Amino acid sequence: MLDRKFILQNPDLVRDNCEKRGVPCDIDQLVTLESQRMEQLQLAQELNRQANEVSKSIKSASADERPKIIERGRELRQQKDDAQAKCDEHEAAILEIQKQIPNLTHPDVPAGGEDDAKELAFGKTPKPEFDFTPQDHLQLGEKHDLFDFEGGARVAGAGFYFLRNAAVRLDLALQQFAVSYLSGKGFTPVSTPDLALTEVLQGTGFNPRGPETQIYSIENTELNLVATAEITLGGMMSGQTVLDQELPLKLCGLSHCFRTEAGAAGRASKGLYRVHQFTKVEMFAFTLPEQSDAIHEEMRELECEIFDALEVPYRVIDTASGDLGGPAYRKYDLEAWMPGRGEVGAWGEVTSTSNCTDYQSRRLNVRYKTAGEKGTKFVHTLNGTAIATGRAMIAVLENHQRADGSIAVPKALQPWMGCEVIEAA
Ligand code: AMP
Repeated sequence: MLDRKFILQNPDLVRDNCEKRGVPCDIDQLVTLESQRMEQLQLAQELNRQANEVSKSIKSASADERPKIIERGRELRQQKDDAQAKCDEHEAAILEIQKQIPNLTHPDVPAGGEDDAKELAFGKTPKPEFDFTPQDHLQLGEKHDLFDFEGGARVAGAGFYFLRNAAVRLDLALQQFAVSYLSGKGFTPVSTPDLALTEVLQGTGFNPRGPETQIYSIENTELNLVATAEITLGGMMSGQTVLDQELPLKLCGLSHCFRTEAGAAGRASKGLYRVHQFTKVEMFAFTLPEQSDAIHEEMRELECEIFDALEVPYRVIDTASGDLGGPAYRKYDLEAWMPGRGEVGAWGEVTSTSNCTDYQSRRLNVRYKTAGEKGTKFVHTLNGTAIATGRAMIAVLENHQRADGSIAVPKALQPWMGCEVIEAA
């Protein structure tokens, strides 16, 4: 959420930013409601002052005058309550608009929509050149008995699945590799709850209600299944104030992720690519404002190192303004080459890292205090995928397949997989 004072002092800048990001927000209405709220607030304060004066005059009033004065006091308090109620109504309406307004945008972010994203770099591994027709991960899965989508659908509906045999070990190996790699880079590993309260979701910019929600909510409770550990890791510090010297606080969270994928019908989503449940190792950082740009670059670099280690070809994308969503100030995606995607292979998003500046911390109320200075300030928050196991698995299986149907295990995963090859059955 943006600072209200900032919005009121910079309505043109905020309006332009909303347009650039394709998020319709009524800034003029917010400005009008704020002046009406202030009017009602001042009126309530004035009526309160008058009612107090009337109360004080009761003592010295004659017995004849007293009932009239008491009645006047009652009227004034009623009018004050009415003004206060209008003030509260305006406050709620302002907050509704304020919550819709997206974060500001980094000046280097390319303008436009999905097709305007800028390609920044490529990974160390070239696209594979097969001297046979490469198979997609579903065909490889059939050969090695790796997935059971029919069983998953019987249990929980389409989009759920069982992993089997080497796929279970690969899923775990990817998690273990990512957690141990990030631990060595100063990230504290945490395994997080898979459920979070509605206010925590809203604080991190997720909307648990509404037609396009990605969130499964548990009926008759305030609990929701998390779509990402970004929600739980951000929520972990809600309402807390830390000392400046404790920042940056870098975490790597392990959670399951649940997504309804509403509105995703028709988007290329074969097999594991777009499912309702997957496992993810997520980087998250709380930082000082002046640290967040550098830590964003660090997260992007770590994502590249992880996919270089998996020997998977990828490209790095600087997401365009219209595709940033609400909380991100800037967002980089890694897209891995998936030889079995589409007719001739295609890039598919495997990671995403965002600098959310103080957009999440303002609603979550996470602050820092500088020694010797008065008051507190909001921290910056950042998140980044280390490994989302489903899509990472597609990239590993499809890029490392061999003519005889076996699949080479990248060196980085061998200690965790306990083998160099997934042998042809
Ligand atoms: P996001 O939190 O939406 O930025 O997603 C982070 C990463 O999770 C993506 O880059 C994908 O690798 C993975 N991912 C997102 N949605 C799905 C899904 N429905 N099924 C499988 N993987 C997903």
